Amino acid sequence: MKMISEKIKIVQERMNNAALKCGRDVSGIKLMAVTKTRTADEINEAVKFADLIGENRVQEAALKKNNLILNNKKLHLIGHLQANKARKAIEIFDAIDTIDSVELAIRINRICGEFNKIMPVLIEVNTSGELNKTGIEPEKFFELLDNVLECKNLKLNGLMTVGPISDDEKIIRNSFATLRKMAEEARVKTGLELKILSMGMSGDFEYAILEGSTLIRIGSLIFGERNYNI
Ligand SMILES: *Cc1c(COP(=O)(O)O)cnc(C)c1O
Repeated sequence: MKMISEKIKIVQERMNNAALKCGRDVSGIKLMAVTKTRTADEINEAVKFADLIGENRVQEAALKKNNLILNNKKLHLIGHLQANKARKAIEIFDAIDTIDSVELAIRINRICGEFNKIMPVLIEVNTSGELNKTGIEPEKFFELLDNVLECKNLKLNGLMTVGPISDDEKIIRNSFATLRKMAEEARVKTGLELKILSMGMSGDFEYAILEGSTLIRIGSLIFGERNYNI
């Protein structure tokens, strides 16, 4: 078994190669360790080498958080957020990367107002059109964008997507290119930086980097396969 540090090193080398391939500076690409199903000990090891941490579920993160040594690395919510967990999510997470409806944006904005808090957020877009995926449909993105910008307690930093389930390079890259183009259009429209393009996971992060990803979310390449039964 390779250590977590070695596995992260391998991912970083692959990030480097992908960046070289398209003439990008790898320092503009962040590595998020995705820690669902992982123990606090495993996460604390990964924290030393990753740029930030992503958890999918509010409840799971709540149970683990007291045992985490985050050393100022940010904890992001990267799973779908149910309305009734919004308050808890705002208490636990440093950022919410999965804004996918007007209702959710308005609710988070209102609760952040109560806490006097500004929440960094990403809008999650369903670029693949797969029915089992969360994220706003691309056709509704600009309406959601307008609404998010009305929410004064939300700070929109960019967009996120989950790539399609496919082995076809073209199909995968198309999905990531869609997100990049949406961000470009949104920048022109709003004048905002929207620097973060959160796209790419263990199976497709190199394609995501070639399409402009600035944040890759890696779980199994760092920690091994997940076992949801434990
Ligand atoms: C689980 C998960 C990841 C990491 O997946 P791996 O394939 O294990 O790297 C990334 N993003 C999201 C939204 C996830 O749910």
